[in-house]
Amino acid sequence: MKRYDVVTTISYPKTGAMGKTGSWRVFKPIFDKAKCVKCLRCWIFCPEASIRREKDGTISIDYEYCKGCGICANECKVEAITMEREGGKK
Ligand code: SF4
Ligand code: SF4
Repeated sequence: MKRYDVVTTISYPKTGAMGKTGSWRVFKPIFDKAKCVKCLRCWIFCPEASIRREKDGTISIDYEYCKGCGICANECKVEAITMEREGGKK
């Protein structure tokens, strides 16, 4: 079997011309560690690179740059991430 090297780029959020993009957010992803099965789908799909992998295999969310798009919650198949309105109810 032929083997191929896999090359990937990992980006990290940083302050751009528009500042910290977390201030744009209307909905906020809430992570429930007890439900997380460590599949990392949210980490792969987050367009802002605002999800971090933690040493225990779960994740954390960088609220300074998360825009609240909800993609992570949509991709999480065990509903370990839910979206809540900022400062209030779902
Ligand atoms: S998609 Fe859900 S289960 Fe998978 S790592 Fe993210 S929060 Fe955990
Ligand atoms: S809501 Fe969007 S920007 Fe925020 S962590 Fe989830 S996928 Fe990333």
